[in-house]
Amino acid sequence: MARRGQASIARHKQDDAYEQSIKDPEKFWTRQAKQLVWHKEPTHAYAETQRKLDSGTEHRAWSWFPDGEISTTYNCLERHIEAGNGDNVAIIWDSPVTKQKEKYTYSQLQEEVATLAGVLKEEGVGKGDVVCVYMPMIPAALIGILAVARLGAIHAVVFGGFSASSLAQRIEASSAQVILTASCGIEGAKGPLPYSPMVRGAVKESPHKPQRTIIWQREQSKWEDLSEQDGERDWKQLVAKAKERGLKADNVPVKSTDGLYIIYTSGTTGLPKGVLRTAGGHAVQLNLSIRYLFGIRGPGDVIFTASDIGWVVGHSYILYAPLLAGATSVLFEGKPIGTPDAGTFWRMLEEHKVNTFFTAPTALRAIRKEDPENKFFKKRGEAGGLKNLRALFLAGERSEPSIINLYHDLVQKYAAPGAQVIDHWWSSESGSPMTGLTLMPNVAFDAADTEFSEQLPIKPGSAGKPLPGFEIKIVDDDGKEVGPGEMGNIVLGIPFAPSGFTTLWRDDERFWKSYLRRFNGKWMDTGDAGLADENGYIWVMSRADDVINVAAHRLSTGAIEQAIGTHPDITEVAVVPIPDEMKGHIPFAFVGLENPPDDLLKDLNERLRKHIGPIAMLGGFISQPGVIPKTRSGKTLRRCLKEIVENALNGEFDKEITVPATVEDASVVDKAKAAAKDYFTNGAGAKLKAKL
Ligand code: AMP
Repeated sequence: MARRGQASIARHKQDDAYEQSIKDPEKFWTRQAKQLVWHKEPTHAYAETQRKLDSGTEHRAWSWFPDGEISTTYNCLERHIEAGNGDNVAIIWDSPVTKQKEKYTYSQLQEEVATLAGVLKEEGVGKGDVVCVYMPMIPAALIGILAVARLGAIHAVVFGGFSASSLAQRIEASSAQVILTASCGIEGAKGPLPYSPMVRGAVKESPHKPQRTIIWQREQSKWEDLSEQDGERDWKQLVAKAKERGLKADNVPVKSTDGLYIIYTSGTTGLPKGVLRTAGGHAVQLNLSIRYLFGIRGPGDVIFTASDIGWVVGHSYILYAPLLAGATSVLFEGKPIGTPDAGTFWRMLEEHKVNTFFTAPTALRAIRKEDPENKFFKKRGEAGGLKNLRALFLAGERSEPSIINLYHDLVQKYAAPGAQVIDHWWSSESGSPMTGLTLMPNVAFDAADTEFSEQLPIKPGSAGKPLPGFEIKIVDDDGKEVGPGEMGNIVLGIPFAPSGFTTLWRDDERFWKSYLRRFNGKWMDTGDAGLADENGYIWVMSRADDVINVAAHRLSTGAIEQAIGTHPDITEVAVVPIPDEMKGHIPFAFVGLENPPDDLLKDLNERLRKHIGPIAMLGGFISQPGVIPKTRSGKTLRRCLKEIVENALNGEFDKEITVPATVEDASVVDKAKAAAKDYFTNGAGAKLKAKL
């Protein structure tokens, strides 16, 4: 097994590429841009301007390949077909919830996309218009997104299943002209979820009215009484008629700096922010990252990204990057557990000969809970079924070392020789990973290289080293850089890398206020807190809001949770601050044990003392399964728990709290409330409450 976490680490090609991208972005990104077909070749990679806001503020703004023109969809489809690869499989759809599977070659996908683009054009969609996509994980979703992009229009994908109000908010904010939707989604083993109440409700609620709603009818639950009068149209019928007429639309190239899509951040508070992705920089950086970081060389390689197309991960690594590379992408309509069991992912890896698998740590935790001995993984592994797998990528939230180590040992034993587990850090704003450990480091210098050369060693708990274009610094609250090993705010230098956003949709002012103002326009604030170690590895420990200030020491919830997680029976933990007269705040934990041993607090505090120091000791804990709320993309909603505990300490046990639209299961919040009420009135918490 590879040695991990050693102190002296030799300089590596990844460091060279990163350094060049920061020192000479012009040279670095011009070389990357040449890998794609441009309708108008850019004469330079990068331009900087001053942006003047209505409020009078001026700040540095930047653009990528400013005079270039490109069609992303041409590069995703026709470029490969013209190179003779039209018969390669572009998309494999595997839906355990409907027991359906489908494959689309590049040529078939192009045919569907061009036809739907023809339909959308006839329905009035043109360059620069916004189309809202509210779809389940079916091929039509990908076809819909690509058809919008083909017309030079802008897609705004909203997670299928979001409430009518959340959808209305996004329709209104984006001024969407058309909605592409389906008659239902299928929520794991729970069965069909009809979309019409949400979509019709949203159209009713939004002051801005889209002209058309185009509906993909699914057998599992039909959209009843389709209303022509209200602009509702049957997707399949429109396409069938278009095919009879041979109706298609061509790719419409756009300026590199034009919008390709808007994605609303998962947002745990406040109104969602419309991150605007521009066409040229996105295509160039995704095309690099899929090979350089994820090791997908091109035709013949298969990537399975177990995310949703409603999230940025789905946009980038289910759809755009695999197609830019000419590879095969697996689209999965199911859940890590329950569809039908905790072995689904491993079945998918074997059946579709997956080379790179990407998921969120929360999915692996759910699997570990159902299958603690990894019987499903081992069974396939022992039969040789997982030999194609070269890497397991994890992102979305922090991966604790125990989950990395567990899967590291499994993939080293059962997957391809030298297979790795790679934590990598990114966001809706960045569009592609900001840190990680690259599988094909030479690709940054020589695009034709197809070698998997020696990687940097992994350090479990760290999200790896910076990737090209992302100048990462750790600074204190005054914007001053802190030394190696010191916790601080993780910020980024300007210009932000090509796949990153350059503003928010129609809201430059909010872009400035949310991301640049805090450090006076010098750094971009990521909202994350962490450190860089002596080898330049980045450790993303928590959201900056989740840092707990104990007696003037800044402790991250991530570090405290990690120490608690060394307890062999604890798989789920969330830490929040509670006020303390002496220390300002002290940590308080939610853990998922059904019958906690009597001495659990003592045990946990010993672990905290050992791993962090006596400063991190817990004031108390609530132990009950199913009380840690998460977003649908797997992020712990600490803010909800914090509010619940604060209210309980004030005796306001039943007070309403703000639950974001992204919550996976709102009943968990109610359970947490009830548990807090019980704990602070009858349990050990009554004493704690009296003391505080
Ligand atoms: P989103 O924009 O919804 O994709 O969320 C981005 C946020 O997820 C980041 O700012 C981090 O807080 C968190 N995140 C993503 N990947 C990681 C990771 N590998 N380690 C720690 N946090 C992560």
